[in-house]
Amino acid sequence: MPESKTLVCMPASFKGYVVPGGLPDKCSKCRQPVWVSPSSLLVMHDNPGVEVLCIPCALAQIKKDKEFEIEGITPAQAEEINEYLRSEESVE
Ligand SMILES: [Zn+2]
Repeated sequence: MPESKTLVCMPASFKGYVVPGGLPDKCSKCRQPVWVSPSSLLVMHDNPGVEVLCIPCALAQIKKDKEFEIEGITPAQAEEINEYLRSEESVE
């Protein structure tokens, strides 16, 4: 059966952050601009109709739904997310 797949993308508003080779897209939830990394583009190519979520929306979703799965998380993407979380923490 078809599963809804989700990609997590770095918000374009994340200061100073540009994904090398990434393409701009929009979060399907809050519509803010995000960067789709090359690894994510591959996932999108293999999974038409995949949902793009920015990291804040994805984290909100994960907190709500423990079964929520994210497609195409690579170690590099996990690092991107950690970096994002650290930057959030440092903001007053
Ligand atoms: Zn969003």
